[in-house]
Amino acid sequence: MMRQVELVDRVRRYNPETDEVLLNRAYIYAMKAHGAQTRASGDPYFSHPLEVAAILTDLHLDDATIVAAVLHDVIEDTESTREEIDRLFGPEIGQLVDGLTKLKRLDLVSKRTAQAENFRKLLLAIASDVRVLLVKLADRLHNMRTLHFVPPEKRARIAEETLEIYGPLAGRMGMQRLRDELEDLGFRHLMPDAYATITARLNEIGRCNNQRVASIEEEIAEALAGEGVAAQVHGRRKQPYSVWRKMERKHVTFEQVSDIFGFRILVDTHAECYRALGVLHTRWRCVPGRFKDYISTPKPNDYRSLHTTVVGPGRQRAELQIRTAAMHAIASNGIAAHALYKEGFTRDDSSLRSESRAFEWLRRTVEQLAEGSSPEEFLEHTKLELFNDQVFCFTPGGRLIALPRGATAIDFAYAVHTDVGNTAAAAKINGRAEALLTELQNGDQVEIVRQEGQLPPAIWETLVVTGKARSAVRRATREAMRAQYAGLGRQIVNRAFERAGRPLAEDRLKVALPRFARASVEDLYAAVGRGELFSGDVLKGVYPDIADERRTITALRPGAEAGWFAVRSSSHLLFHLPGASAETDWKMLAKRGCYPDLPVVFANGGALPGDRIVGILDPESSITVYPIQSPELTAYDDQPERWLDVRWDIKDDDRQAFPAKLEITAINEPGTLGLIATVIGENGANIDNIAMRPISREQRLLVADLEVSDVKHLSSIVAQLRVRPIVSKVERVNG
Ligand code: MN
Repeated sequence: MMRQVELVDRVRRYNPETDEVLLNRAYIYAMKAHGAQTRASGDPYFSHPLEVAAILTDLHLDDATIVAAVLHDVIEDTESTREEIDRLFGPEIGQLVDGLTKLKRLDLVSKRTAQAENFRKLLLAIASDVRVLLVKLADRLHNMRTLHFVPPEKRARIAEETLEIYGPLAGRMGMQRLRDELEDLGFRHLMPDAYATITARLNEIGRCNNQRVASIEEEIAEALAGEGVAAQVHGRRKQPYSVWRKMERKHVTFEQVSDIFGFRILVDTHAECYRALGVLHTRWRCVPGRFKDYISTPKPNDYRSLHTTVVGPGRQRAELQIRTAAMHAIASNGIAAHALYKEGFTRDDSSLRSESRAFEWLRRTVEQLAEGSSPEEFLEHTKLELFNDQVFCFTPGGRLIALPRGATAIDFAYAVHTDVGNTAAAAKINGRAEALLTELQNGDQVEIVRQEGQLPPAIWETLVVTGKARSAVRRATREAMRAQYAGLGRQIVNRAFERAGRPLAEDRLKVALPRFARASVEDLYAAVGRGELFSGDVLKGVYPDIADERRTITALRPGAEAGWFAVRSSSHLLFHLPGASAETDWKMLAKRGCYPDLPVVFANGGALPGDRIVGILDPESSITVYPIQSPELTAYDDQPERWLDVRWDIKDDDRQAFPAKLEITAINEPGTLGLIATVIGENGANIDNIAMRPISREQRLLVADLEVSDVKHLSSIVAQLRVRPIVSKVERVNG
């Protein structure tokens, strides 16, 4: 265990001004507080906060952060209180420890709703002072380093949480080195087999290419030295988890990810970055479309570097990153490399805070959270924004708008201003008229043509990428929907009264309002329109003498969320169907209300939870659900009135098996079929059927019918298959 003087020494090495007395007091206080507590490893508990503090001294952080690390578990795990910490160490440290205590109580991999709510709290806690996040990440890193002592069930949950939340969060804050280690440990514990396979293959490639990498390094350094640029060149090793993620997300094979060598070139000055680039591009051919200038346009997490790919020495493709040592420090340690966290920085000092754009992002995300989107929705989009790369676009006035990759002109409009988004009617991209749904590319100049007084179509909610656009569309459509529901409800109620042969007088409805717990007649109509209230009940509320003739509603019932019906099909799958959207024909809707037993069936070819889905309405017989990519949908292209927005609502604890089909191209070897079946089985999927046929002398095509729980489950299986050397291609087949 680290001794008292060692901790002080570590800090003094980068901060000669350190308050030794304070550090020593914290050391002794925490040691006494944790007393005889031990960790899962059997070590004294106190060794843990010390290791966390040590990780933070590597990042050269200020005294308050180091002390908070030493004290981070005392409130939660010992008799200590916030008041005592405030009194002994001051309110700044008290607040940091308090933030960490709150985080410790969050269980991020819990039920989806709880997870979302906890993630919201996490962001709120770290947004008040980013040093809370720095200590939390160091805490998680030490826990991951010692995860093998923890029981296996708990281990997987912690590893999953690390991969889903803490790794991306560290990356978003620009702390690449910490992210790499967190993800490496998380991947190793969560998917030991895939980790072992990828690591073994990377090692093998490393062994074969050692000599080659060294000679390319040398050749690059010499080429630069010849033009008077002093540079350090290092071959970069691929991280197993980043290889895995690319295979999983970008649908590429192991070879496609691993056959390019990466090099990092460190030079002294900003100007030399560009000179080095010029030298290398003159010497070797560059691969078109691969050059990125993150120096003139840094990433939102402050990452700066030049990226290019050349067909380099020995016709070997090489990915090059060119940067200065200062840029490299930010690329490795991100937000922690900013000088502001190394001296006392106060919460109120907004001018300092604005130096870090990563922190800006955090602040914006938290603002969005205050706008009241549902926690699940928020989580989904924040996670998305954590993972995705960014595209940078410009307004006609030259303002830079950073958006997640895949964002459309609509997202752009909402990023500029909510009003611009709500009134967006058309887009001009680089001077040309384009659809609002066009996916934006880096460097696009986007002009939004506005039309006052229009409403965003509800369908946008499912098409936009950014959380901001999505919640704004929801807000705008929610209001419009309410008015539409009220109109529909009025019709339904009118008809019910007509059928019963009773006059409908609104003042009689008003008298009955308290019985339905509604504030106004308008509210009452909207409730009927949404299906929360039955017209028969309204009738009975006004005329209690009418005999009870309630219809049994079996297929349609009001969903938890206003505006959506929950639909149950014969095979008891649950998803949501909107009561109405701008495109829905009102007669059709009324008809659906009249025929609540309309069965819901799934088209052949398997829609999986996570797929975007579309319902095709046949008012006489059924609603058929297709995945959006289904080729069969083209048959309904000219009947837009039959298309219904539908979306999934499968509960995490109500997992069901869904059919999915894969086509796997594999080398024909004895045991091929067995291996593939094993991989699928070990990943928790059922195999209904596997057929194998030859496509060449060496290769076989396997068609596998599986049962999986959702798209994520299927993608994970696809990726696990792609890792295997005998598998050359895996594709999902849609009916
Ligand atoms: Mn801890």
